[in-house]
Amino acid sequence: MHDLIIIGAGPAGYAASIYASRYNLKNLIIGKELGGQISEAHIIENYPGYTNIIGRDLMEKFKEQVEYFGAEIVNGKAVKIIKKDNSFLVIDENGQERAASAIIITAGASYRKLGIVGENEFVGKGVSYCFVCDGPFFKNKRVAVVGGANSAAMAADYLAKICRQVYMIFRKVNMTASPIWQERVKNNPKIKLINRTNVIEMRGEQLLEKIILDNPRQNSKALAVDGAFIEIGSIPNSGLARELNIKTNKEGYIKVDSGQSTSIKGIFAAGDITDGSNGLRQVITAASEGAIAATSAYEYLKK
Ligand SMILES: Cc1cc2nc3c(=O)[nH]c(=O)nc-3n(C[C@H](O)[C@H](O)[C@H](O)COP(=O)(O)OP(=O)(O)OC[C@H]3O[C@@H](n4cnc5c(N)ncnc54)[C@H](O)[C@@H]3O)c2cc1C
Repeated sequence: MHDLIIIGAGPAGYAASIYASRYNLKNLIIGKELGGQISEAHIIENYPGYTNIIGRDLMEKFKEQVEYFGAEIVNGKAVKIIKKDNSFLVIDENGQERAASAIIITAGASYRKLGIVGENEFVGKGVSYCFVCDGPFFKNKRVAVVGGANSAAMAADYLAKICRQVYMIFRKVNMTASPIWQERVKNNPKIKLINRTNVIEMRGEQLLEKIILDNPRQNSKALAVDGAFIEIGSIPNSGLARELNIKTNKEGYIKVDSGQSTSIKGIFAAGDITDGSNGLRQVITAASEGAIAATSAYEYLKK
């Protein structure tokens, strides 16, 4: 029996474990991909303490610290959580059951992809799903933002401060972004709006060089860009939580209070999977939510 089981081995899960171990809680992490999605980042420049660091290297450091404080890390997938009277059972894909008095869910979220030719090939070589993370790498370059909702408009507005030219490409006649964001991007001379258009392919040699549109522009379907920011939303990995009827918002993110508690006593959540941190889904916010969740779990277990 563990005091605490942490589901997910990204920044939120690792940070939660470090705090839990230092509260003397016997804790175990079960994670499908050790290191989480930041392991895909070729370079991180916004995690304090490192001017720049490769995502995988940063997560190795988190993992070393988790192991130093003695937590157990299991590489596996949790497929079910069962609520007992005063405890929980976590079942993995091999049917193994592990019991704990409290749970922290840190299963993250996945960026929605376009699913087009060349997209995967150019991730980290021009294609990005996170303007906050990668925008500064495109100083004075030409970039496209794909999407027409608030996050895409925010991305275009942010990138226009850094880049030479920003194209905002969306399928519908009008953007779905809120009026204030629509005004902002429409009035920005660096942003060109391209409506009723889908991006259907990404092309280049080593790096992204052009995107192909289904609706020709100035007689050409090819648009030369150095970067393409896909801003069409993300999908939280909250299936386990929803099965337990843990409250989520309309997009499926787990609702948490300021102590990272969910709607079920004894279950906490942290990181990209929650509706917390004002929607800023980054390593620093995931780690801080993990720290808060572990502290709340400790307070809960003391009682
Ligand atoms: C390419 C890229 C670049 C980025 N660049 C930056 C950057 O420069 N700076 C920055 O701050 N942020 C960046 N981010 C965002 C950052 O990666 C996330 O905000 C952060 O990883 C969220 O941490 P998390 O622990 O909440 O979730 P994640 O990192 O997504 O980790 C979730 C963990 O849960 C596991 N999991 C999921 N389901 C289950 C299950 N059923 N059972 C067990 N385990 C499960 C996953 O395998 C993983 O281990 C980037 C993201 C990407 C993809």
